[in-house]
Amino acid sequence: MHSAHWDAVSAHICARCWSDDHAITSASMNIIQRYLVRRTLRKHGIAFNQWHRITSQLPLVCALSSRQKARLRLLCTLLLKKKVFTGAHDFVVNDEMRICIAAQACVAILNIGLNAFDGWLEIIIYPNAFIVSRDVVDEIGLVHHERRGLSGESWGRGPVILSWQDVQHDSYTLRPGHNIVIHEFAHKLDMGSGRANGQPPLPANMPASEWNQALTDAYNKLSERIEHHQHSYINAYAVTNAAEFFAVCCEYFFTAPQILQKHCPQVFQQLTTYFKQHPL
Ligand SMILES: [Zn+2]
Repeated sequence: MHSAHWDAVSAHICARCWSDDHAITSASMNIIQRYLVRRTLRKHGIAFNQWHRITSQLPLVCALSSRQKARLRLLCTLLLKKKVFTGAHDFVVNDEMRICIAAQACVAILNIGLNAFDGWLEIIIYPNAFIVSRDVVDEIGLVHHERRGLSGESWGRGPVILSWQDVQHDSYTLRPGHNIVIHEFAHKLDMGSGRANGQPPLPANMPASEWNQALTDAYNKLSERIEHHQHSYINAYAVTNAAEFFAVCCEYFFTAPQILQKHCPQVFQQLTTYFKQHPL
């Protein structure tokens, strides 16, 4: 995945590709870090034709401006360099799979920087839904053995695990409220605070109290509707817990922002500020 086209996007290289610290400007950027970014792009850049062929099939990427796409390609290259993709049970992971997944993951961090995905290394791909078998403790302390098929999973400081069949299903056709890549990588953002609790590390301009209020109110409102068998305007899976609520809201934010804005306007506002994007 080498490219000679990087000169065209090198002007977009800035410290924000690595960090969301806006105090770092292009003038004061760490020279070594900048060198490492350029070297990665030079040695591991994604060829433009390959990039275009794969991402032009992804509705989440097609919705971006040319400038955003250039930045996305850069972030995607850096993410592919930082993370290890592994096929489960000898499943062969090719460049198309890597780019498809990395590009959509980077849509989420387009304006907050790659550091948001720090602290873990691996992305494991299964060919299709994978079976997990484990003991779970319910709310009254009873232990149950569960065995079920999953399309994705994220481990705290561990890997993101994805079913390629499900990634394909959600990636090449826009499915409002459903995108397994966005969902699992949203869990990774959430876990940046140490555990998945629906509250990722927030920038200094976002009071945690306002975030919690907005998400808790929307969560309670949706739970109440579901308890009363009323129409669930977003995927009912969201009320599993606070972490799933955040991940599902992220899916809506990027795939069906109008639905999230209409039914959970405070959450939409918080996510707009957090992601530094306005998908509408
Ligand atoms: Zn989840």
